[in-house]
This record gives sequence, C-alpha cells and structure tokens, in this order.
Amino acid sequence: MSKELKDCPVCGNRCESYSDYSSDKVFYDCPICGRYELTSDSFSLINNNMLASYLFYKRFLGHQEESERRYHTTLGKEKCDEYKKEFEKGDITHGLPVHMDIDLIEKWYPKSFSDRVDYILLKTYSFSKHIGQTVCLDNNAIFSLLFVDRKEKKTNNKIEWRGITDCLKEADYMLDCLKESGYVVDYLHIRDEDGVKLTLMPKGYGRIEELQKNISNGQNAFVAMKFGEDTLPLREAIRKGISNAGYNAVFIDEVEHINFITPELLKHIRDSKFVVVDLTHQNNGAYFEEGYAMGLNMPVIQLCRDGVQLHFDIAQKNTIMWKTEDDIPIRLENRIRAIID
Ligand SMILES: [Zn+2]
Repeated sequence: MSKELKDCPVCGNRCESYSDYSSDKVFYDCPICGRYELTSDSFSLINNNMLASYLFYKRFLGHQEESERRYHTTLGKEKCDEYKKEFEKGDITHGLPVHMDIDLIEKWYPKSFSDRVDYILLKTYSFSKHIGQTVCLDNNAIFSLLFVDRKEKKTNNKIEWRGITDCLKEADYMLDCLKESGYVVDYLHIRDEDGVKLTLMPKGYGRIEELQKNISNGQNAFVAMKFGEDTLPLREAIRKGISNAGYNAVFIDEVEHINFITPELLKHIRDSKFVVVDLTHQNNGAYFEEGYAMGLNMPVIQLCRDGVQLHFDIAQKNTIMWKTEDDIPIRLENRIRAIID
C-alpha cells in the first residue's frame, strides 16, 4: 500500500489516495466525498456528476470509531457481504465496505428540480447544529451539495472537467433560486477559497419540517429479519406482500450497511408506518427492532415459520405462521390491509 496526495477523481479536491499495486483498486480519502474505493474499470461506468453528489450526501468521514470503518466501493454486493462477515469475526483487513453501483446512484439521484431543492435543504440542515447557524462550505462542497456538474462530454466524446467559471455560474443560479424562494440567505459570498456561507431562513425550516413529516407519514414498512443467502426467498415474499398492500419495504441492508444498532437504523424504524418482523431465526436484532417499534406504539406484524417455538413474551401476539414462503404474500397483504389505515 502506498499513500499519495492526489486530486480526487470525483470532485477534484486534494485527497489522500492509497493504491495497492497487486490489484487495480484505488482507495480515496477525500474531505468532500469521504472514503471510497474505485476499481479502474468501474469508474467510467458511473456518471461522475451523479457520483460526486451521491458520495457527498452519504459520505463516511473520520476513522476513530470501529463502526466508522465504512467506505463506499464499487465492489460487488457479495464481496462486500463477505468482508462484512470477516469484519464481524474480528478480521478488519477490509473494513466495512458499502456497496454502490449505478442503479443505486440513479435511484437516489433527485428526479426533478424541486427534488433537488428538497435534498439541498435537508442536507444543509444536517450541517447546522443550531437554528440560524451559518454553514460554511468551500466551492467543492457547494458543487456537490447543489448538484453542479463537474464534468462534461467534449466534442471529441471525451469526458473532461468543466471550467471552474462554468461550475460557479451553475452554483450561483441554484443559490439565487434558493434565496429567491426565501429558503436561505448567503452572505460573505466570497468566490475564491472561502466558498459560501449559507443560513437557512424560516421558510427553509418550514419546508424541512414539511419534508420530515412526509417522510414519517410515508409509505414505508420496516422489515426486521435475518439477512443472508438462506433467507432471500423469505425476503422477496415479504417484499411482495408489503408492496401488494401499497407500501415500500425497507430492508436496512439495502439502505445502509449497518452492523450495529445505530441512530440511523432507529430513524428508519421511526420513519416507517409499521414494522414487519419475521421471527423464524430467533435473531436478536429482529427482537430488538420489534421491541423498539412496540415501545413507539407502532403497529408490528409478526411472521414465523410454522413449528418454530416463539419466545413466550411475543407468542401471545397474533402471528402469521407460514409453512412455505409462498404462503406469505397474500396473508401478509391481507393483514396489512386489515390493521394499517
Ligand atoms: Zn472528492
């Protein structure tokens, strides 16, 4: 492993990079994009402009905590799961890779102008600890925050960096829109190294509150179960039942790579309308997540394979006992329709 100071290939900021000459993977630690890893062939597949904002919005910074050995990677999902298992067993060689690919990035990327504005407000809000606090961001952070394209296809079909003046113009346009809508003010708008200082205005906070409410009144159903190869048919059966009833199933390992009970995980539970838990594997995490949801007075729907002995405390609760995964979709759908309004 050799360490070098380089320009980040995604955002152009100076960053640390580590390459391992035995493979074509390069690891970057960028103050804007966080920690991520690319293989030389993966890079051209991903639209760089989307990737820059994706990494910034979801970045992993800091090294101190064990739980913070996370980094984004274009490595396959299976490989990531394998490294994750090694990590849980104490072999931290590969850290905690979080899989990303073009599908995930495109799915996440805002679909409309107003979606962009919403993303920007929520992210800006996440940077400020107190109401009215000014958030200072340098130009590279501002470009990622505002979804400014860094690169473009030139006439020779080659993808190259855009000029800084063009990027700044686009950023200014976005900032003007935000200001004119009354969402933010920016002052001391110095164009060189200082970047932008943004402050959310009451209208901005109002919009953020609205968005947060929408998230929690939304159509998500959190699923607690054992994740693994052996439970894939179960996962898909549950997903089908939930989506047939008109809700989105949230599987935590598809949203974030989480190995511990973390604030993000709890937030996903809180933001859901109800929780579906499968207790077949007597999984501690699933018990915990069910307990947490019950403590919040959220509706919980229990599933379990027929013949598995349930823990006394929850055996009282009406449970969908299934014989094969094929039983699940229709029974789960009916249960959801019966108890969730
Ligand atoms: Zn970067």
